[in-house]
Amino acid sequence: MSKVLIIEDEVEIADLERDYLELSGFDVEIEHDGVVGLKRALSEEFDMYILDLMLPGIDGFEICRQIRGEKNTPVLMVSAKKDDIDKIRGLGLGADDYITKPFSPSELVARVKAHLARYERLIGSNMPENDIVEVRGIRIDKTARRVWINGEEKQFTTKEFDLLTFLAENPNHVFTKEELFRRIWDMESIGDIATVTVHIKKIREKIELNTNKPQYIETIWGVGYRFKV
Ligand code: CA
Repeated sequence: MSKVLIIEDEVEIADLERDYLELSGFDVEIEHDGVVGLKRALSEEFDMYILDLMLPGIDGFEICRQIRGEKNTPVLMVSAKKDDIDKIRGLGLGADDYITKPFSPSELVARVKAHLARYERLIGSNMPENDIVEVRGIRIDKTARRVWINGEEKQFTTKEFDLLTFLAENPNHVFTKEELFRRIWDMESIGDIATVTVHIKKIREKIELNTNKPQYIETIWGVGYRFKV
């Protein structure tokens, strides 16, 4: 849920903004004082800021300037005077949008939604791509910790996932059960190498067509396991 901080000293306006945004599914916080609002804006994570211009303590111009010094989060400025909009533009504070009072609450909601969508696209495009391991019909998304077998998603426990991923990333290499246990289970773990056998069995039930004739994880008798490429 997107979190919006409203800094607005007029209680009725702040409540109206909050009510409409909450109806649209936003999580909204209000501060009526400029100093307190600025402190929260900088120290907490929000997805959008709605700033009134004239505030007790510290005004919206200064709050916007300080937010911009640290964050790229969208800022919507609210002012009572049309002249102020020119001033906001002129100061180059980096506000993303401005709206004058009185405004229709649905207009405010529409603008907040538009800015959030744009910002999310911007962040999304800067995110590194997920780390994927793919071997013959098995697709492991290491970032999302999800696994698909021939296009169908299967559920794996944490250790099953770690074990499968480790083997798939190190194919054609025989690992003993001791090695696998040491690598996947930390030293504090209760258990022994039989745990490895149990997990291999569970993984095979999910990835192999025929667990008696494994196509992926081979048993090397007397040694351990090998992931076939
Ligand atoms: Ca005000």
